Amino acid sequence: MVITIKPGTTEKGIQHVIDKIKELGFTPHISRGEERTIIGVVGENAIRARHTFEAMFIVESITPISKPYKLASRDFRKKDSLLKIKDVVIGGKKVVVMAGPCSVENKDMLLETAKMVKQAGACILRGGAFKPRTSPYSFQGLGEEGLKYLAEVSRITGLPVVTEAMDPRQLEIICSYADIIQIGARNMQNFDLLKEAGKQKKPILLKRGMASTVKELLMSAEYILSSGNYDVILCERGIRTFEDSTRFTLDITSVALIEILSHLPVVVDPSHGTGSRELVVSLSRAAVAAGADGLLLEVHPRPEEALSDGFQSVSFPIFQQLMEQIKKVAQAVGREV
Ligand code: PEP
Ligand code: MN
Repeated sequence: MVITIKPGTTEKGIQHVIDKIKELGFTPHISRGEERTIIGVVGENAIRARHTFEAMFIVESITPISKPYKLASRDFRKKDSLLKIKDVVIGGKKVVVMAGPCSVENKDMLLETAKMVKQAGACILRGGAFKPRTSPYSFQGLGEEGLKYLAEVSRITGLPVVTEAMDPRQLEIICSYADIIQIGARNMQNFDLLKEAGKQKKPILLKRGMASTVKELLMSAEYILSSGNYDVILCERGIRTFEDSTRFTLDITSVALIEILSHLPVVVDPSHGTGSRELVVSLSRAAVAAGADGLLLEVHPRPEEALSDGFQSVSFPIFQQLMEQIKKVAQAVGREV
């Protein structure tokens, strides 16, 4: 349930409510707005305690949250959540483009790509150092060496970086180099990883599992939020369907649906979502039109030489065209790039 505190209530009054929530064995999640403070009370059967709080004169109202995901729900927060990563705001008017190679391959290609995507209008650099590959014989990523290149290129270009953590044991080191921690599709329901990610001080980009529903995605986000990290970005990256002419089926519907169900920002990955560079530009346009807060795109200076996902990586000229096209779509739907 959500407890809305009356405007003008003193800190002491708010603390009294918080102490009571803890005393009853629930966890308080405090959100201080311009006018009102709201406190989410989560825990099994939290709603049963509503009468205790209704009786307090500083409590304006109590709203039950009927959805199984509580803190991720629009019922918890009506306004869109805005995430600030250095100078970049995710969830606002600007559609944030995160672009870069699938894998960090070496420093030179990363720097070359970062400079190009920045010049074309991307705000965040992506690149995997720990790679979840289907085959154990495929390139597994450079590990910490890759993280070092990401941090160095970030310093040179000023672009914040997003990179994937596959295991709770990688979180500490990744947090020391990167600005956003990605949890990949294959790990969306790795609950230990989600709980540990919830203890970090860095935003988490949570990708939808390829066989997961939107509700399951929101429940996974709830793990991170309820562990104390409120900076979560959701990512639609395609799901498995009977359609086998594309790598996955990009579920554009989920973007519009998440906008209704949750206050969290949602970005779209048309690279993994389609698995084909011929389709990436069209699906980027579609994602922006559907209301995506950002795009996650694989870009490579020479896609045919890429060590992973070259077939779905766009070249620099195509990326430039893509950026030009999504600018027009963004404008048409009241956004900007
Ligand atoms: C990625 O973005 O590098 C990636 C591996 O994507 P996904 O987890 O969506 O397959
Ligand atoms: Mn990839």
